[in-house]
Amino acid sequence: MPVKPSNPEEEYFARLEAERRRKAAQERQAQIQEEERQQQRTLHFMKCPKCGMQLEEIAFGDVRVDKCFSCEGMWLDKGELETIQTKEPGFVGRLLKVFRS
Ligand SMILES: [Zn+2]
Repeated sequence: MPVKPSNPEEEYFARLEAERRRKAAQERQAQIQEEERQQQRTLHFMKCPKCGMQLEEIAFGDVRVDKCFSCEGMWLDKGELETIQTKEPGFVGRLLKVFRS
């Protein structure tokens, strides 16, 4: 049985429909990824990346250290290590003294 030659107009609209659905699927996927990202952020915000306990933010001058009092880890935000690098000699020692038990 011979195959009916396809109608160029039908092909055009089929391609448009496929493209529309591909775009919609990509948008749904991006939305799901964004929702998952937000859920992860809510779940992990200010939790220690090593032990999972709550981090406490302690200000020391213009540096805010996120400190875990469970595993004793200390965390810095973007740029804070660079800020510390500009401080006077002895700054890090004084910072560490704050957390010494
Ligand atoms: Zn910890």
